[in-house]
Amino acid sequence: MKAKFSNAWIALGLALAPHALAQAPTPAQRELREIYKELVEINTSDSVGSCTEAAQALAARLKAAGLPAQDVQVIVPPDAPKKGNLVARYRGTGAKKPLMLLGHLDVVEAKREDWQRDPFKLVEEDGYLYARGAADDKAMVAVFAANLIRYRRESYKPERDLIQVATCDEEIVPSRFSGIVYLLKNHRALIDAEFALNEGGAGLLDADGKYLRMSVQAGEKVFQTYQLEVTNPGGHSSLPVKDNAITHLAGGLARLGAYDFPFKLSATTRAYFERMSGIETGQTAADMKAILREPPDSEAIARLSAANPLNNSMFRTTCVATMLDAGHATNALPQRARATVNCRILPGESVAEVQRTLARVMADDKIRITPTHEPALSPPPPLTPEIIGPIERVSAQMWPGVAVVPTQLAGATDGRFTINAGIPTYGVSGMFRDPDGGGVHGLNERIRVRTLYEGHEFLYRLVKLYGGGR
Ligand SMILES: [Zn+2]
Repeated sequence: MKAKFSNAWIALGLALAPHALAQAPTPAQRELREIYKELVEINTSDSVGSCTEAAQALAARLKAAGLPAQDVQVIVPPDAPKKGNLVARYRGTGAKKPLMLLGHLDVVEAKREDWQRDPFKLVEEDGYLYARGAADDKAMVAVFAANLIRYRRESYKPERDLIQVATCDEEIVPSRFSGIVYLLKNHRALIDAEFALNEGGAGLLDADGKYLRMSVQAGEKVFQTYQLEVTNPGGHSSLPVKDNAITHLAGGLARLGAYDFPFKLSATTRAYFERMSGIETGQTAADMKAILREPPDSEAIARLSAANPLNNSMFRTTCVATMLDAGHATNALPQRARATVNCRILPGESVAEVQRTLARVMADDKIRITPTHEPALSPPPPLTPEIIGPIERVSAQMWPGVAVVPTQLAGATDGRFTINAGIPTYGVSGMFRDPDGGGVHGLNERIRVRTLYEGHEFLYRLVKLYGGGR
């Protein structure tokens, strides 16, 4: 996800932490690099890749490090040999329920001819690592595996099992072979956990690489697409009538485009604007405080929406027209006009209510509204002190003075399925992104070398705090 940030961010940039300076990699970092390189160099895109191969490579590493073979499984759906998933259990004392370490193996397609370098070769240049999946999501998957190996070497015995779950087809929506859906349905006992750590929460750097904020993602908007359709008997275009399919649809879409869904804050987005109001300055900071009051200041809401689409996405459901298709001949009245509208619904809001709102706002009975798929509802998981406390503690150790900011994701991850299944899931990585998003889902995806190592150390410490024991 890309977002604009004001100069306040840059003004607030903090000095590099001392550990960020270039140093020779430690043995644990060298081992992480090997795992990571192997993982990104296995193509796991839908067209020609294989998640199964990647899952097997990770499984081999974990078993070689001493995890018992029965605790390391590659689970392949019966009708999809390339859509394998890894489930590896690092055993604790069992005093507490397990912690899931979730990530996805598959990557968005990447074409060699479009990229400056081979997307399936790990290339290091000027402090960056380039490859498809370099950040999304093979960094986190490799870090989880490397840390389980590290714990094993130290004979670490947590109070709960740590379950690494590396899935296939997270990037494909909807997918028949969604690994997390398959595992929840068919192997629930194997992956059941008290809570899960996942992608979706990254820190933010400025253009100079200074640390701006650490984010913890607690909650995702619900992805729901609708097809709008108007049909009409049509006729010859030389004899037009007012009852025209395209005109009906266009009028409805124009009304929808002008409409704003109601403003609403959740515990997560309230915490986001509270923290951000302390980081931003001037009018933006004042507006963020003004929307937290009861009743919220409507002018402040409008200014924040206009200033940054990220703000707007945080405090309201959005529905936007994304595709159009109408008519069948240049000289015929259209018999059919269709549009696709993609909604991102606030967690906890009613999907049926959103459809009723669409109908009310478009205000034209001729427009038929049909959901294209079943929604995957997911209420935001609670940011309890037990969850946020350890994140703030490790963050303060590694990046003193950098704020930890709860966020709500406008996009979607596997977390919406685990949350629905009763496993609260939090996006937290300790990895900071460049302000341009680092080419995730786009061209020349990259991550800073130091970011990979920082995520490695951050998650090593964080998982130990959640894991307890010694
Ligand atoms: Zn991802």
